[in-house]
Amino acid sequence: MKKIAILGSTGSIGTQALEVTDKIPEEFEVIALSAGNNIGLISKQIEKYNPKLVSVKTKEDADFLQKKYLNTRIVFGEDGLLTIAGLNEIDILLVAVSGKIGLKPTITAINNKKDIALANKETLVMAGDIVMKLAKENNVKILPVDSEHSAIFQCLNKRSEVKHLIITSSGGPFRTATKEEMEKADLTQALAHPRWNMGRKITVDSATLMNKGLEVIEAHHLFDFNYDDIKVVVHPQSYVHSAVEYVDGSIIAQIGNPSMHIPIQYALTYPERVEGIETESFDFVKAAKLEFYEPDFEKFPSLALAFEAGKRGGTYPVCMNAANEEAVFAFLGGKIKFTDIYKITKKVFDEYEPIQNPQIDDIISEDEKVREKTRKLIANKI
Ligand code: NDP
Ligand code: MG
Repeated sequence: MKKIAILGSTGSIGTQALEVTDKIPEEFEVIALSAGNNIGLISKQIEKYNPKLVSVKTKEDADFLQKKYLNTRIVFGEDGLLTIAGLNEIDILLVAVSGKIGLKPTITAINNKKDIALANKETLVMAGDIVMKLAKENNVKILPVDSEHSAIFQCLNKRSEVKHLIITSSGGPFRTATKEEMEKADLTQALAHPRWNMGRKITVDSATLMNKGLEVIEAHHLFDFNYDDIKVVVHPQSYVHSAVEYVDGSIIAQIGNPSMHIPIQYALTYPERVEGIETESFDFVKAAKLEFYEPDFEKFPSLALAFEAGKRGGTYPVCMNAANEEAVFAFLGGKIKFTDIYKITKKVFDEYEPIQNPQIDDIISEDEKVREKTRKLIANKI
C-alpha cells in the first residue's frame, strides 16, 4: 500500500486521481489533500478520506475547516503546501495544482526523497534543469501524469536507442478554424475542447497550442532530448497519446481511449500495473480512422514560440510561461481577445532580458517581474 498526498485534490486531475484511488483502495492510503478555494468539495473529501493533513488557500478557510474537522490538521497558503510536501510518512506526492505554486512543494518533496507524480507542467517549464538534477541527486522518480509524457515514459525503454520523441496533439477546438474565425473566438468556443475535459487555464492553452509548446519543454527536461529531436504531430482522434522512434526505425506508440485515469493511475501504481477504473478495451475497429497532420505553426504561433523559448533556455521559458498565463487569465476574465494572448506573450518575450543558469530564487523573481509587466500591458491595452 502506498501512502499518498495530493496537491490540488479539488481540480480536474486531483478529483480523477481520487477516483483512481477509490477504485483500488487496497493500493493507497490518502494521507494529505489540498484545495484552493473550493471549500465545499474539500469538506466532502475530508469527510470521505479522513486525511491527517489538509491545506487550503486562505487562513479564514483554514480556521473555518479546523473548527469543523478536529481529526484533521488544517494548514493554509504556500506554507501549507510545503508542509504537505515535507511530510515524512508519504511515499508519493501528486502535484496537481495549477500554475507556478507547484514548483516549491515539488522541490521540497524531492529534497525529502519522496517520489513525485507530476501533473503540474509549469514546474518543469520554469525550472526543469534544477528539478531534474535534484531528482537525480536524491534518487527520486519524477513520474509523468501528463498523458503524452506518460505515453513516452511507457514506450521509452532504452534512452540511448531512441532517436525522436513524437508528441501528439488533438489540434484543439480551432484546428479547422480560419484565422478570421480565431480573431473572433469567444470564451465558450475556446473552452470547448474536442477531446479532454480539463481545468480552464490548460483548456485555453490547448486552444492556442501553447499547451503543446509547454509539453515540448516538459518532454525536453523529463527525457533529456534536444528540441530538434522532439516532433509534434496533430492527431485529432487522440487515440495515439504519443510515441518514440528508435534508431532502427521502429516506432512504439502508446494507444488507448482518451482518459486521464490511465496516466494518473500508472504514475501512482508505477512500476506495477493493476486493473483500474478504465475497463473498456480500446476497439481498433470502432476507432477505424487515425489521422495525422503537420501542426500549423503560422496559425498557432504559440507552439513556435515555445520551441524558441526552450531552445534559448535560461529564464526564457519562465518569461513565456508567466506572460502567457497572465494573458490567459485576462482572456478568461473577458479583458482581451483570444488572439491577444499570443500577441501579448510575444511582445513581453521579445523585450525580455533573461538570466542564464538561474537559481530558484531568480526564477521566482523573474516570474513575478514578467507577470507585473504583462498585467501592466494588459491594463494599458498594450
Ligand atoms: P484545475 O484548475 O482543474 O485544478 C487546479 C487545482 O489547483 C485545484 O485543486 C485548485 O484548487 C488548486 N489551486 C489553484 N490555485 C491554487 C492556489 N493558489 N493555492 C492552492 N491551490 C490552488 O487544473 P487541472 O487539474 O486541469 O490541472 C492541474 C495541473 O495539471 C496543471 O498544471 C495542468 O497543466 C496539469 N495537467 C492537467 C491535465 C488535465 O487533464 N486536466 C492534463 C495534463 C496536465 P480550487 O479548485 O479548490 O481553487
Ligand atoms: Mg497533455
